[in-house]
Amino acid sequence: MKRICVYCGASHGKREAYRETAELLGQELLKRGLGLVYGGGSVGLMGIIADTVMAGGGEVIGVIPEGLMGKEVDHQGVTALHVVDSMHTRKGLMAKLADGFIAMPGGLGTMEELFETWTWGQLGFHDKPCGLLNSAGYYDSFYTFLDNMVAEGFVRPKHRGMLMVADEPAELLDLLANYKPPTVKRWLDETDL
Ligand code: AMP
Repeated sequence: MKRICVYCGASHGKREAYRETAELLGQELLKRGLGLVYGGGSVGLMGIIADTVMAGGGEVIGVIPEGLMGKEVDHQGVTALHVVDSMHTRKGLMAKLADGFIAMPGGLGTMEELFETWTWGQLGFHDKPCGLLNSAGYYDSFYTFLDNMVAEGFVRPKHRGMLMVADEPAELLDLLANYKPPTVKRWLDETDL
């Protein structure tokens, strides 16, 4: 893996632990020589992880839709900032540029990005690993819901198992590095995204 795409809140959340995890993840990317791909903003946890990787001399690639440049305050210090025409283009480009994905605590946008990437993997559009960083137990009730989705027969266990989960950045990056995708029927390849 060369670059990890991190999905996270455009807010900081209420706990200091979320900021600390964003910094820790940034430091762990630096340690492993992994670049960061992210939403290109300077607000919330997005800004913290980008600042951490930039400060350590790492590669930071932002992808931001033109319409959000003021709202999410496009980051001026990043290695490269791609300004794109839509949310859809943003997600497609982020997915292409990265070799794996991590969702940190975040809001609806983070969930939307995680689910789209995960479902692309489920459909076999890509073979890249997806992970959930459960800082301060933020995603505990979400795991319970996922288990219920499997128990009720709407999600296959092998697809549930595609989402790596860990409380610590180092542990999660190890899981991503060792990820073996399930065998699924190929519908499209990544260039079709
Ligand atoms: P949030 O998790 O809601 O704080 O948002 C985190 C990031 O997700 C921000 O950069 C949002 O612009 C982005 N986002 C929100 N909605 C969407 C969407 N429908 N598609 C792609 N990105 C989104």
